[in-house]
Amino acid sequence: MPELPEVETVARLIRPRLAGRSVRGVLVRWKRTLGGMSARAFEQALVGARITAVWRRAKFVVIDLERDAQPAGWLVGHLRMTGRIHVEPAGWDASAYERVRLELDDGHALHFIDVRKFGRLWFTRDLNELLGALGPEPLSSDFTAAWFAQELHARRRLLKPLLLDQSFVAGLGNIYVDESLHRARLHPLRRSDSVKPVESERLHAAIRAVLTRAIEREGSSFDAFYRTPEGKPGGYQDEFAVYDREGEPCVTCKSAIIKIVVGQRGTHFCRTCQRAPRTRRRRSVTAP
Ligand SMILES: [Zn+2]
Repeated sequence: MPELPEVETVARLIRPRLAGRSVRGVLVRWKRTLGGMSARAFEQALVGARITAVWRRAKFVVIDLERDAQPAGWLVGHLRMTGRIHVEPAGWDASAYERVRLELDDGHALHFIDVRKFGRLWFTRDLNELLGALGPEPLSSDFTAAWFAQELHARRRLLKPLLLDQSFVAGLGNIYVDESLHRARLHPLRRSDSVKPVESERLHAAIRAVLTRAIEREGSSFDAFYRTPEGKPGGYQDEFAVYDREGEPCVTCKSAIIKIVVGQRGTHFCRTCQRAPRTRRRRSVTAP
């Protein structure tokens, strides 16, 4: 499933092809991709609008729209499992899995392609409604080591599910949480309030380093689904330390990587590098 680095890659690559373009026409092939809006209302909102910016928030691609130089809402995409966005010249073969198409004034078109149909392309006039509950961006200056240490301590949750929670930190998913925890040498089942200041600093740095490097490699492609808008696979899967490496040797210590299930999510870690949290010792029942 695309996470922050994959969605950032999509936004960066489609931005130069979309900025300044106007929408000429809309084709909706699968209504549910619009997330509840009628195809007619979607068309009315989009046709004639001009794209002024393309950016990312968490795992969402956000496209700013205007009309007559006034803000005119946003187009917000979420790729979910198998969504892809391509901006291509007329005549490009969009495949049978195309769900929505926006025709642009330069003859190109934006194609929203989605095999499994969980992806969404919303139009909204209230961005906060879609994005308001998200936590800070982990690569922004809001995400400081001090804030992170304080929030880990306050939350009292297991690290793995806490880091997946988009209202805590935005954009992390299964891959980059597992990779970050390994890099920080922290067990996924550690309670967040047991994390010491030095460990929290390590985890903060690990999250930023892993995401930054994954963006440089244009994300991770380990199945048939995620491809950049240029149709290429990402490269970060070649640098996975733990994710999708069950039974393979740890890159640090050579122990076999373990896979367990935490909150229904496959979770990969090294038993040697990421020591298990201490279980509370049973109170002694022997007489003094
Ligand atoms: Zn190890």
